[in-house]
Amino acid sequence: MFGKVLIANRGEIALRVHRACQEMGIRTVAVHSTADATAMHVRLADESVCIGPPAARDSYLNVAAILSAATITGADAVHPGYGFLSENARFAEMVEAHGLKFIGPSPDHIRMMGDKIAAKDAMRRLDVPLVPGSTGALETFEEARAVAEQVKYPVLIKAAAGGGGRGMKVARSADELEEAWRVARAEAKSAFGDDSVYLEKYLDRPRHIELQVLADSHGNVVHFGERDCSLQRRHQKLVEEAGSPVLTGAERDELGARVSAGLSKLGYRNAGTLEFLWQDGQFAFIEMNTRLQVEHPVTEMVCGIDLVKEQIRIAAGEALGYTQADIAFSGHAIECRITAEDPETFAPSPGRITTYHAPGGLGVRVDSALYSGYTVPPHYDSLVAKLVVHAPTRREAIGRMRRALGEMVVAGIRTTLPLHQAVMDDPEFQSGDYTIHWLERFVAARQA
Ligand code: ADP
Repeated sequence: MFGKVLIANRGEIALRVHRACQEMGIRTVAVHSTADATAMHVRLADESVCIGPPAARDSYLNVAAILSAATITGADAVHPGYGFLSENARFAEMVEAHGLKFIGPSPDHIRMMGDKIAAKDAMRRLDVPLVPGSTGALETFEEARAVAEQVKYPVLIKAAAGGGGRGMKVARSADELEEAWRVARAEAKSAFGDDSVYLEKYLDRPRHIELQVLADSHGNVVHFGERDCSLQRRHQKLVEEAGSPVLTGAERDELGARVSAGLSKLGYRNAGTLEFLWQDGQFAFIEMNTRLQVEHPVTEMVCGIDLVKEQIRIAAGEALGYTQADIAFSGHAIECRITAEDPETFAPSPGRITTYHAPGGLGVRVDSALYSGYTVPPHYDSLVAKLVVHAPTRREAIGRMRRALGEMVVAGIRTTLPLHQAVMDDPEFQSGDYTIHWLERFVAARQA
């Protein structure tokens, strides 16, 4: 097992990885920008190294500075968390080239899944169901038109290098296709430096359901069931649940078995999540994330597993030590992503936290790096806390979340706590019957 792990991240996820390491008896190295000198992940780590000025490109994305920090401190491995360098294949390669272990998949698999066209090709070969659309990149507009006519409108033009919902444009009819084609390519070029695009049928009322997997380097693959992440705004998740209110155990098992067999064939290693759209009882793969996800705690709560410890054990070469038959699902878990934003306009609201009080009690978990007196810097992602609850049923989990949201205090800045409270109070949310478009309308109605 590793003696020391460098955590190439900040905020709640850096803390999350630190906690796993500490329980495993592994020392931790925090890296931080000058803006984060007093951050909780720096305070709690065994050692810390300043890697640059506030801007992420000069600090948390500064590969040379991170690798020197790892070398100077004698770390054995690097955990990238999510975001930043976590899906950067070149970074993973450089970590390994420096004689350190990258706690994640192989660079080849990161690269393959980072290119959404290559990812869909791989899944097609592995017999994983896909959203109907083009096979590979579209070279010309005429090709796009031909595929659109075949799968029928509405369609979506998507960037091969896409992420965060960028480079994605809907065309509802043939008249709108040329514009969508042009705009998606231009956006993809400016956001990702790559204008390759592909086309998918646009599903009008899907749910977002994803499957968590772990694979060791001995060929064992196990899945940990699904997360329903249908509550999204601008393609960003706000609330996640395990399990999905619409899926039966048999449907989960069927999809899980197919995915596990596919990833085993691929020789995939470490944690991964396959994202699907689900409509009319059908799953359609959209992308695979080759890292730990923000919403991983809901899976941990229902499966009673520590996914970060498993990632570390796998990277150290250990076998999973259990099979699919050993994985049991218990109860229901919900996560609310609490961000430093205005709950109605979503305008960023960084600043000093005058009072912070975390809720507690049975089945309540808070993953956050906040403390009273901490100043949320304006330079990074606005996520400040993940409030997670676990209860025997979905109904009880909602009741517990309402209670926990009511207890939580984050004073001094605006947060999305009131929005989450309104969602939990809403009868439609409580019914479990909604699609990925529901939250957008809910937010618009509150603004009106
Ligand atoms: P990104 O990597 O930019 O997040 P994804 O492919 O994961 O892009 O899609 C993000 C979100 O966009 C999905 O969760 C879903 O809400 C929506 N979306 C993606 N593909 C489709 C589609 N074919 N039809 C309808 N909605 C889609």
